[in-house]
Amino acid sequence: MSADSVIPFAFESLPVRGALIHMSRSWRRMQRDHDYDALLTETLGHSAAATALIAQSLKFDGVITLQIQGSGSLKMLVMQCTNDMQLRGMATMGEGTSASDFVELTAAAHCAITVDNGDRPYQGIVEIDGESLSTSLEHYFERSVQVPSHVALVANEDVAGGMLLQQVPGQNIDEDDWTRLHFLAKTLVSKDFEGEAGIELIRKLFSEDDVRVHKARAVDFRCRCSDRKVEEVLKMLGEKESRAALDERGEIEVICEYCGEKRSFDSVDVSRLFAANSVPGSDSVQ
Ligand SMILES: [Zn+2]
Repeated sequence: MSADSVIPFAFESLPVRGALIHMSRSWRRMQRDHDYDALLTETLGHSAAATALIAQSLKFDGVITLQIQGSGSLKMLVMQCTNDMQLRGMATMGEGTSASDFVELTAAAHCAITVDNGDRPYQGIVEIDGESLSTSLEHYFERSVQVPSHVALVANEDVAGGMLLQQVPGQNIDEDDWTRLHFLAKTLVSKDFEGEAGIELIRKLFSEDDVRVHKARAVDFRCRCSDRKVEEVLKMLGEKESRAALDERGEIEVICEYCGEKRSFDSVDVSRLFAANSVPGSDSVQ
């Protein structure tokens, strides 16, 4: 049985809700086709835990996307999680670059969280103003979402985990209690997530508090790529470009950068693609 799960919980005597996430199998699968260094592994793992923690709070069918776009060491990081806890993500470094810590890695980078319910996507900007993704997200929740939150994230190549604590809007909490919970959440380290990090971990961490634990929900790695989506990309590329690529290599091979799935298109496929849905002028898009 996979231990990858998210467990929502609430404090009986404090206006605070929370969730604990623990990923191992799905997290290792996400890294399978990549060769990330330790810092990028940690940053991607933090992003995976954070995105899943946000997604578990969705009350509707939708997708949360955390995206960091940089011009220095980190070129791009994308993490997506659906409301039913299907997660995928990847990151790429700028050519020939390296970084020694999160601040250097994300220097001059832009970070955004998009909530897409299939109707009208909403994007919020996350200022990378702390020394970590968790600090930046705490500021984001406080300023943009106006929900004071504590975010603790841990990751290495084996586990990605974390905890989100949020004040219940409209209710007052004693500042000392809030600080105490923050302190406790910040004590979480990777070792806590080795093995079955579940209800016991929540109970151990908040042993002084009365915590109501809700049903655990499974978290899985699942890519959302499909033949149809890749075909859409080729159509956007245009017939001329597609045929040029075909002439060069005999076939067009498209590898999904999230899950590593290979899809090949030969001349018959390309002809079918552009015969089925020829859009006048689509080749001339700049
Ligand atoms: Zn894929």
